[in-house]
Amino acid sequence: MTDGDADLEFSPQVMRSMGEDVVKRVVDHLATIGEQPARGNVDAADLCRALREPAPEDGTDLAPLLDALFDEWIPRSYNTASPGYLAYIPGGGVFPGALADLIAAGINRYTGVWLTAPALVQLEANALDWLREWMRFPAGSRGLFTTGGSTANFSAIVCARERLLGAELRRGTMYLSSETHHSVGKSARLAGILPDRVRSIAVDAQFRMRVDALHDAIERDRAAGFLPFLVVSSAGTTNTGAVDPMREISALCRAGGLWHHVDGAYGASFHLCPELRPLLAGLPDADSLTLDPHKGLFLPYGSGALLVRDGEALRAAHSETASYMPENRQGDEFYDPHQYGPDLSRNFRGLRVWLAFKLYGAARYRAALAEKRRLALDAAQRIAALPHVVMDAPPQLSLFAFHLAWPGSTLADEDAATRELLERVTRRGKVIITGCHAGGRFLARVCVLSFRTHQDRIDDCVTHVAEESAAIVARHAGAWRPA
Ligand SMILES: *Cc1c(COP(=O)(O)O)cnc(C)c1O
Repeated sequence: MTDGDADLEFSPQVMRSMGEDVVKRVVDHLATIGEQPARGNVDAADLCRALREPAPEDGTDLAPLLDALFDEWIPRSYNTASPGYLAYIPGGGVFPGALADLIAAGINRYTGVWLTAPALVQLEANALDWLREWMRFPAGSRGLFTTGGSTANFSAIVCARERLLGAELRRGTMYLSSETHHSVGKSARLAGILPDRVRSIAVDAQFRMRVDALHDAIERDRAAGFLPFLVVSSAGTTNTGAVDPMREISALCRAGGLWHHVDGAYGASFHLCPELRPLLAGLPDADSLTLDPHKGLFLPYGSGALLVRDGEALRAAHSETASYMPENRQGDEFYDPHQYGPDLSRNFRGLRVWLAFKLYGAARYRAALAEKRRLALDAAQRIAALPHVVMDAPPQLSLFAFHLAWPGSTLADEDAATRELLERVTRRGKVIITGCHAGGRFLARVCVLSFRTHQDRIDDCVTHVAEESAAIVARHAGAWRPA
């Protein structure tokens, strides 16, 4: 061991060469992303066992590590970056996001505190302010870039709890729908709101929260001595893409002194397009809003965002300081991230959002979002017209859900056939679609939100659903054929 070994810096020449190797691998991977199966072979438990190893005592060259990563391990994953990824909630991961991460980690500046990197923090503040403007939140709003939608929902619940409950934690009750994303219940628990204080409100035939049932539940809790404090509605549910009646819910919350949080992790980004705003009526009335830039703004995973109408409430929930912290003599003029969220040291995650918007411009984002909506409408219309398909949830935004049925089929037959359809369509390799339980049955769902998905892939999806559903129903229904 020499002092030379203690120096971890690479020479500029070596850094450049390593960087070029990595960029080449990533670009080669992306250049063929459309031909790679939409679902890789993830039957990999034996591989994972074989991968376990003690910490290496001596270093290795980069090249064999990149070989293993790109040739063996990356292909063994759901291809969430594929144009054929119509499962769960896609996004894709635009290349400027990767560039921004390289810059952010490469320079490694401290962006948790305004004073230590003022211009960089300002870029992040700008990106938040653009989101605020597109969501039509007022100027006094403040926000936060988070690791994802789950953590944005968490900070929103903490904010509402601090503002409206204080020490009365156990008297507080909150309301969500039976279709709300599971991260909301989890976040509530993390925020000290235990499951016995979380009320699940019934949905209507289109899977939207029923405002009459919400009203009744709040009144019941009040009469029983509880403190109803928070309603979480969804601007696009994960199961079927349902958009809750946000305007009515906001009015009800305002009248009753409750906080209205909108979980827009899937759907809020469609508010960028003025022509699509009517689909999200009432979204700007909310007290807080979760967005997930790694879904509807197509960024790589690790990008969520929260907007809070009353910026002071967000600060009051998170603000702390200590004698060893740099003194902020600027007062309130500049956005200071650690005063608005749980992190102190953090990655410079706003750079991804900023760089992507600067490189593309908002107009191209709007065009991409409008295209996803159009493609979803097209796919839903063609799939709904297929024999044996029942469209349970037409697209309210860019997600729809359906099941298979035929004369004489039972619920169990239909669930089994619909599951089989997902598997067979996905096995063909061009698209991956997944399912959910809603309305008492199993549904196949198609979500169009990858920036890489275009008409050709939607045509593959419709063709494969048509062919596979015909084959499945022919077998299940035996000799029966449509007249
Ligand atoms: C994806 C999603 C979440 C969770 O977001 P993550 O970024 O995965 O943490 C929450 N709500 C809805 C509606 C979602 O679609």
